[in-house]
Amino acid sequence: MTDVLVVGAGPTGLLLASELVLAGADVVLVDKANERSGQSKALSLQPRSVEILHSRGLLGSLLDDVPRLPAGHFAGLPVPLDYGVLDTRFPYQLGIPQLRIEQRLEEHLAGRGVGVCRGLELTGLEQDETGVRATFSDAAEIRAGWVVGCDGARSAVRKLAGIEFPGRDGRFSAVVADVVVAGVEPGWELPSLVPRDGAVMTMVPLEDGVHRALFTGPEQQNLPKDLPVAFEEVAAALRGWYGDEIVLRELRYASRFTDAARQPERYRVGRVFVAGDAAHVHSPTGGQGMNLGLQDAFNLGWKLGAVVRGEAGSGLLDSYHDERHPVGRAVLGNTRAQGVLMVPDEDVACLRETFVELLGVPEANRLLAEQVSGIGVAYAPGDHPLVGRRMPDITLANGQTLADRLRAGRHVLLEGMDLAAGGLGEANGFAGGGVCGARVLVRPDGYVGWASDDPRAVVPEVGGLPRVTAGS
Ligand SMILES: Cc1cc2nc3c(=O)[nH]c(=O)nc-3n(C[C@H](O)[C@H](O)[C@H](O)COP(=O)(O)OP(=O)(O)OC[C@H]3O[C@@H](n4cnc5c(N)ncnc54)[C@H](O)[C@@H]3O)c2cc1C
Repeated sequence: MTDVLVVGAGPTGLLLASELVLAGADVVLVDKANERSGQSKALSLQPRSVEILHSRGLLGSLLDDVPRLPAGHFAGLPVPLDYGVLDTRFPYQLGIPQLRIEQRLEEHLAGRGVGVCRGLELTGLEQDETGVRATFSDAAEIRAGWVVGCDGARSAVRKLAGIEFPGRDGRFSAVVADVVVAGVEPGWELPSLVPRDGAVMTMVPLEDGVHRALFTGPEQQNLPKDLPVAFEEVAAALRGWYGDEIVLRELRYASRFTDAARQPERYRVGRVFVAGDAAHVHSPTGGQGMNLGLQDAFNLGWKLGAVVRGEAGSGLLDSYHDERHPVGRAVLGNTRAQGVLMVPDEDVACLRETFVELLGVPEANRLLAEQVSGIGVAYAPGDHPLVGRRMPDITLANGQTLADRLRAGRHVLLEGMDLAAGGLGEANGFAGGGVCGARVLVRPDGYVGWASDDPRAVVPEVGGLPRVTAGS
């Protein structure tokens, strides 16, 4: 019997498996696909995802080798979200396509002796008090203590565990296609989403002469979601937008997507969890979906690891739902709001203009920048103002950074001198006397689990390791 079965080796499943291995758990990671599709849906990492991957040393040279995009966007409005004001070492998106992130994580796992078991499609799940029996299309069977469904929007784990997926269907259907074209050199176009003749097209240059086309029009609305995207469908959409001079030479990958918005009531049923797209679907506007999944994995990984090691009771696992469900709900909310701003309607155009003005107000711009970048995520508050908040990657008294200390995936106790070296003080909620006697317990995922500025306060600790309890 394995400790944890992770179903789905997309970005969420790969990072979760990596976290579990770091925590010392036995992990089996399966995927129904025999190989990766090769398509990158997401093209960049948001600042909070850069932080978490950096804190495990997973980015390596990618940090310097890829473009840094100093802004985000909201509904494609012409005022960028200024990431420069965010309180982070990484005030930018990293232009790393999803495929490269997946490859990096898979290589990392392979280096730790864990491969992806491919060609295994989950078809059955039965759980009892001691574990879960998973069965696969080829009659293979795996017994695990815990199962996490990272198997995407149509999650088999979610369905087999009886987890409902309430919400609404998409209101539009669109195509994403990676293309090589001749005749016209399409420039970078932010999704202006002002339709022309009922159609919308955006083109983004990728590497090696390939462009990412995102388009929708009347024809796409009537085609089944599962219908493969034909070469001629893409060629016609390009001609319709750019004119007859544009010629589609190659269609590398293409798929359909919608702005469906769904989220389960529960992320956990007994020994089974859902994470990533299995736990939330929404329109890709703003570039948040993959990032949300990575951050789900980062929240659940250390908790499951602690339970598997016997250092925490299984009650801690409920905090995964308690913490991540509201974050998912907020992203569904902001993507739906962005969707409204994109509706081709004269009144909505007025709303867009109002938003453009609002985004010129630094506080409003910052609020949305914190939401879309993930930097603004905080969990339930506690006795001290820092509890539940993300701890910035401060430089500590010995010259190390917090990220260096978090690399082992364990709790980190920061003493007063670390807090002082990191520039923390009254503004961060410490009592007037400064941070001398204060201590802060940072969870493996970088959020504050416990803090006190009372030098006599007892740090939660069991057997030399910081104790892990629900809420800490
Ligand atoms: C057009 C488009 C653009 C996007 N752009 C962005 C962006 O800019 N930024 C961003 O953050 N996000 C973006 N996203 C969203 C992002 O791509 C997804 O959120 C991300 O892929 C979710 O990762 P995941 O690991 O949760 O699921 P997935 O990537 O869907 O991986 C699920 C895996 O599970 C496997 N699987 C499925 N069923 C089974 C089964 N029964 N048994 C075994 N394995 C199974 C699949 O083969 C797959 O490998 C975009 C999405 C689209 C459609």
